[in-house]
Amino acid sequence: MIQIRDLHKTFGELQVLKGIDIDIQKGKVIVVIGPSGSGKTTFLRCLNILEVPTKGMLSINQQTLDFNKKVAKGQIPPFRRLTGMVFQNYNLFPHKTALENVMEGPIIVNKEEKSQVEDRARILLEKVGLGDKMDFYPFQLSGGQQQRVGIARALAMEPKVMLFDEPTSALDPELVGEVLKVMKDLASEGMTMVVVTHEMRFAKEVADEVLFMDQGVIIEKGKPSQIFSNPREERTKQFLRLIH
Ligand code: ATP
Repeated sequence: MIQIRDLHKTFGELQVLKGIDIDIQKGKVIVVIGPSGSGKTTFLRCLNILEVPTKGMLSINQQTLDFNKKVAKGQIPPFRRLTGMVFQNYNLFPHKTALENVMEGPIIVNKEEKSQVEDRARILLEKVGLGDKMDFYPFQLSGGQQQRVGIARALAMEPKVMLFDEPTSALDPELVGEVLKVMKDLASEGMTMVVVTHEMRFAKEVADEVLFMDQGVIIEKGKPSQIFSNPREERTKQFLRLIH
């Protein structure tokens, strides 16, 4: 489903991603962990081309962007539609209701028929447990509810892959579980997911593979049981000692 080859990203002089190589199979859940500043968010944003990689190749669902050559601007929007992004701070439109937030992308970006989109948006809001909050504005919702709208909004675009950037780290602890539950349900339905998170329990329970990143490279990857109980690399051991 996803092939990433020698992916680099620099900001001015700062080399943030220094050559990422990985294949992700359809239906797998990949959790990315690593110290602050290691490039996890940048990696995720590159998959969605919210950051344009400086070098390397990205392929999702047989569509390929080769950043070693000049990428035509027109190639980016269809590629971006392959992935749906869920942000740490929800990024909802404050002046739109939950339902309108979920409908916005398909209508504005995909030019879909409003009535059709509305039916789909209602089903998605039901699915994330917000059937009774469709007409509420973001300020009338808890953080956990807002994030669930964020997930429904990303799903409304019918992406092939869902990307989650620390989706629970802005939430009060008692609201984390309801968001993780929605993510677990999605995983069990077979959605391909790449999740940057500090929720190690989620990683242990749901991830097919955990990637440990440090200083812009993947230091180690493996099944959660291996990474958490028997990490091979010293830097992984140090990181896991610090967070426990
Ligand atoms: P955290 O866990 O703290 O969110 P992270 O592993 O997600 O960290 P990134 O947010 O990807 O790390 O940041 C990696 C480095 O890239 C940091 O040094 C950061 O300051 C830098 N960086 C990220 N985005 C930009 C940008 N738009 N312009 C300049 N530097 C940036």
